[in-house]
Amino acid sequence: MLSPDQTVFLMYHELERPGRATCRRDPGYLRYVVSEANFRAHLDRLRAQGFQGLSVGAALADPPTGHRAVAITFDDGCETDLLIAARLLQERGFGATFYVVAGFVGRPGFLTGVQVRELAELGFEIGCHSMTHPYLTDLDDRQLRVEVVEAKDRLEQLTGRPVGHFSCPGGRWDERVACLARESGYVSVATSRVGANTSVTDRFCLARVAVQQGTSLPDFDGACRGRHFWRRRLKDRVLASAKRLAGNTLYEKVRTVVLGYG
Ligand SMILES: [Zn+2]
Repeated sequence: MLSPDQTVFLMYHELERPGRATCRRDPGYLRYVVSEANFRAHLDRLRAQGFQGLSVGAALADPPTGHRAVAITFDDGCETDLLIAARLLQERGFGATFYVVAGFVGRPGFLTGVQVRELAELGFEIGCHSMTHPYLTDLDDRQLRVEVVEAKDRLEQLTGRPVGHFSCPGGRWDERVACLARESGYVSVATSRVGANTSVTDRFCLARVAVQQGTSLPDFDGACRGRHFWRRRLKDRVLASAKRLAGNTLYEKVRTVVLGYG
């Protein structure tokens, strides 16, 4: 269970609406795609239980003490951020952070430049999720600068606002990523490390909890309250061992076997 100082940061990806094609169809991708109906049910559940939905900036600036809150984040910059999520969040008075892949802007299924600006103008926070979505830990210094620094510049030009928050593609994080992000003016880096964040959590290694296609409403409730994180961590440890042994490409195959197709 969470202490009053702890806040869970939820991580969403593309949302699915009947009749609308998702950006990708492979099982590894679809596992992270949540339906519009389920997303709406999550937000209603949060509201009914007195949770406020916050952007990363708001959650970090004003760590909620004594009242319930979650940070709501989206990775990748899919078009459904604006087409589906924005309105549902707005209707409930919730904030959120949309981490956009700068180099994917304008591709089919992803936000266009106009749509990224629109999200920012609606009051949502635009964060950066790299330039081309590689595993950052595999890159040399020059490539890493493109993904972290140049991507930030591009999104700032697009939105006309500072971009202060970064999330790591595939959750791949190391000290080098954190240092470069800090040097280049970011104020936080989000990972996929399972846990809740407190006022003393390293802001350049924020924990997040993935909401997936198979996440039931009771699981969702539990996640927002910090329940069963040990189970998620155990699963992550098994996968991390597989990654160390196998390297990233083979790891993806092992991951599919460990997590199954659902
Ligand atoms: Zn991603």
